[in-house]
Amino acid sequence: MPRKKKEPVSGVPPDAPTIDHASRAHAVLSASAAKRWLNCPPSARLNEQFPNTSSEYAEEGTAAHELCEYKVRKYLHERMERPQSEYYTEEIAQATDIYAEFVIGIIEEMKANGAEPMALVEEKLDYSHVAPSGFGTGDMIVIGKDAEGRGLLHIVDYKNGKGVFVDANHNPQMMLYAIGALRAYDFIYDVEIVRMSIVQPRLENISTCEMTVSELNAWAESIKPVALMAYEGKGEQHPGDWCRFCKAKPVCQACKDEALALCREDFLDLDAGAFNDTAAEESDMTAPYEADTQTAVFKQPGLIPLSELAEILPTLNRISSWIDAVFAFVSSEAINHGVPIPGYKVVEGRSKRVFTDTKAVVDTAVQNGYTDLYKQTLISLTEFEKMMGKKKFNELLGEFVAKPPGKLTLVPESDPREPADLTAAPEQEFAVLSDED
Ligand code: SF4
Repeated sequence: MPRKKKEPVSGVPPDAPTIDHASRAHAVLSASAAKRWLNCPPSARLNEQFPNTSSEYAEEGTAAHELCEYKVRKYLHERMERPQSEYYTEEIAQATDIYAEFVIGIIEEMKANGAEPMALVEEKLDYSHVAPSGFGTGDMIVIGKDAEGRGLLHIVDYKNGKGVFVDANHNPQMMLYAIGALRAYDFIYDVEIVRMSIVQPRLENISTCEMTVSELNAWAESIKPVALMAYEGKGEQHPGDWCRFCKAKPVCQACKDEALALCREDFLDLDAGAFNDTAAEESDMTAPYEADTQTAVFKQPGLIPLSELAEILPTLNRISSWIDAVFAFVSSEAINHGVPIPGYKVVEGRSKRVFTDTKAVVDTAVQNGYTDLYKQTLISLTEFEKMMGKKKFNELLGEFVAKPPGKLTLVPESDPREPADLTAAPEQEFAVLSDED
């Protein structure tokens, strides 16, 4: 009698309803914002004062997560209607395939290690014993054994964005998910090792961090006081790269102080006046002297060494992002809510002419003897791949495919990507602003 193929155990019933990702509730101490409230505790309560707004990126992310969920559930033989979305491009299809393949690989590896893994998709995880009222939703939890037979918890999170590189290394979001998962499921396999992976295919980023359960528990103990402080809205504001998605940023006093302090203390002395008395006397002996307190005076004229610029780069990044946030916030107040902004007004920008009725345009042009109204373009590489299937595509067209080096970008040393080989891409020159620009 043929052996029945064993399927991975799933914690979700086969007829589980589709999860509405858009309505994923967020805790005050959400795992996704953990880096922020751990570094700036009052930000947790400050963010409550702002409405939840959605963006095209967020909607695309939600749609991509649904496709990830569908693909993994399909592998697990769990019923779920295939999600539909206008965001489903070939790129999203490939990115979610990479995620699903990664997750399936983990499950298959655990099965090969001799343990029937428990696989949980979109699992609500409660870590409120560490951070008050804390909970989050883990994209994928797999519990089984590693190659050495030790109890293994593997958590995987899909990141759809391609703007910010997300590293799994001691990532507090993943660590909080792991704490929640351990609390609920540790008893199953007596977990010793925790692996936390981030799959961010659109940045070719798959990173994994491994910790022992005792290391994770020690970290959990260490954050309890700051989590309590954050929950109570106490502590001091502390700007850093975690401000990026803080809704309070445009009106954050600490961000403003930091930005202005950099200018005030390091470069400018606004109170000194633009000219000293001697210069004024020399330029115009008859005019009464009045110190110009509006124009900046540079304390130390000269050129700034690169090393000094490098030192202020992280702050400049934050200030630039704060300035963007202030403009976006004030513009939204004025444009979306009609709030008057003193000294400013809302105007219409330039727009392009468009045809209102394409069919009528074509008909009219043809009736009047015009031809060659359409141009033909080659379908994209991914469209070819979709049309032929991966195997046929590689067989027929593989030899004509090349992957040019990506655009060179300067990133902080902490970025986990390998440094680029600059000698291999000499033609990529970064444009420096010049007089001609
Ligand atoms: S923007 Fe302000 S409140 Fe938000 S995390 Fe940064 S410092 Fe804290």
